[in-house]
Amino acid sequence: MTGATTSIPFIDLMAQQSRIREAVDIAIARVLDHGKYIMGPEVLELEQQLASFCDVAEVVSCSSGTDALWLPLLAWEIGPGDAVFLPSFTFTATAEAVALCGATCVFVDVDPVTFNMSPQSLARAIDRVEADGDLTPRAVIPVDLFGIPAPYGEIEALAAPRGIKVLADAAQSFGAESGNKRVGALAEVTGTSFFPAKPLGCYGDGGAIFTNDPDFAEVLRSIRVHGRGSAGKYDNVRIGTNARLDTIQAAVLLEKLAIFPGELAARQKVAERYDAALRDCVTTPAVPRDQRSAWAQYTLLANRRDDLAAALKNQGIPTQVYYPKPLHQQGPYLDCPADPDGLPVTEDLAGRVLSLPMHPYLEPGTQDRIIAAVLAATEAEAGS
Ligand SMILES: *Cc1c(COP(=O)(O)O)cnc(C)c1O
Repeated sequence: MTGATTSIPFIDLMAQQSRIREAVDIAIARVLDHGKYIMGPEVLELEQQLASFCDVAEVVSCSSGTDALWLPLLAWEIGPGDAVFLPSFTFTATAEAVALCGATCVFVDVDPVTFNMSPQSLARAIDRVEADGDLTPRAVIPVDLFGIPAPYGEIEALAAPRGIKVLADAAQSFGAESGNKRVGALAEVTGTSFFPAKPLGCYGDGGAIFTNDPDFAEVLRSIRVHGRGSAGKYDNVRIGTNARLDTIQAAVLLEKLAIFPGELAARQKVAERYDAALRDCVTTPAVPRDQRSAWAQYTLLANRRDDLAAALKNQGIPTQVYYPKPLHQQGPYLDCPADPDGLPVTEDLAGRVLSLPMHPYLEPGTQDRIIAAVLAATEAEAGS
């Protein structure tokens, strides 16, 4: 056994912090000096920089990735009696946004290679809801799982003729690309998260919504501040909420956005190194030819996943299972409709996915230790 002398972090946020610490200290001090803690100038500056980064007309920052999904559904006035289609193989927040509106989640299966929404499964689920006639199909929320953009072209082609809205859950994919477009510009409306461990994270909670529709952005801005109207602070024209991004978090994000392109390139390098070393012993992630992943996670498939995770843990190497239990098998969502053919890919993936340490500051020597441990564990398994 190779000695696991130092434990390896799954995501190393300290390495990034030490790189930008001085700039962040100055940026936070600037906020303390001007004192505009709510909707200060950094918030507008960040929204403008994010819009130009993704080449979209409008960015509305907000308090979390969850709110970045919930606010668009509120703006579309989606509620009881409405069907919203989403993958079951996702983080629970995707479904929560739907349930909080009082709408019904309709679960869709995923593609076995990209782990993203299957357009064929979506078509079956829409047909089912239309045939049943109890619910009105209103929106679809594809998720860019682990950093790879969902197939928005095919999904849009199913959704648009039926008047179904497309809301991208890009919580894990900010910075990814499809064709010559960045995430943020791939769907009608996109929500992302700035939770610290996401590709672009702040030092608390945060999120943002992207759209090219200025009227829709105005509704989102109103909902973000208690449904405010145009006639002043106490003019309330709709039911909204408090979903603002803190000025301090915007200041942190401006510093992080400056180094983000380099970090995306570093993640890509780490992914390529994993792929070259591991592709013959486990199923490594496959990014479609015209896409670039943001590599929020590096997730492989292994038949004896729990044995592999245990062997890596023995070597001081942390792993994670995203996600061990699909949403359609979880208490609050047990009664939700789904693709009439079931969700076989989702159920298979939940038993075989394993995510390895992935971040822009993963040193080659550390990565070699992880690779060696995966190779040793899978060889031992093949020989047993
Ligand atoms: C993290 C995440 C969210 C929620 O983001 P928060 O900022 O934590 O609210 C939503 N969807 C997916 C797929 C996520 O990974």
